[in-house]
Amino acid sequence: MVTIAPPNLVSFALTSCAAIPTAKYSGIIVGCASAAEGGYHISREDQPPGNYSISHYPADAGGDRQWASAVDISMEPREMGNVTHRLTRALSAADPRASALRAFNGSLNGKTALRWECDGAVGTAAPEHAHCLHLEIFRSRANDLRALFDLMSVMVGADSSPFEECAVEQVHGHIERSLDSICARITDIANRLTLMERHEQR
Ligand SMILES: [Zn+2]
Repeated sequence: MVTIAPPNLVSFALTSCAAIPTAKYSGIIVGCASAAEGGYHISREDQPPGNYSISHYPADAGGDRQWASAVDISMEPREMGNVTHRLTRALSAADPRASALRAFNGSLNGKTALRWECDGAVGTAAPEHAHCLHLEIFRSRANDLRALFDLMSVMVGADSSPFEECAVEQVHGHIERSLDSICARITDIANRLTLMERHEQR
């Protein structure tokens, strides 16, 4: 029984932190105080039976059974409000770039923490989420680099997918090769960070 951080989820988290002012990486495996109760911060095989993170959506049945599938990113109130607003807008508009997002906890004003589900439901969240964004990714998408970077493009306020912009430039082959090379490097760095994070867990 083990929980590991998928390399591309680590890449997504660290790149998001680099792209969002004041954002700080707060964890994939560790993070929320509630992780011991089950949920996306721990793997499918480590869940208590019937936990919501494995029982509600078919998209949570896929992916590696040892992957964690949640990210915590801390940020100051202004960025929290901006990022939360962009994510709520993407969910309500069914923006395909947010299709990997199962739910998230955040705050529109940096004071009141709320939870938004992909089905449109809004609920309460623990107070810590006023300054700590908690993203739950469908388990089948937890290592999907394209889906994750599409989501990041929403978070940073971009108007379109970085991958679509490449296609529009009609130099698709060249950019695809460049992207592959960049992704390989990011994955290599992320793999090492994942090993470090696993080491710290022991
Ligand atoms: Zn969390």
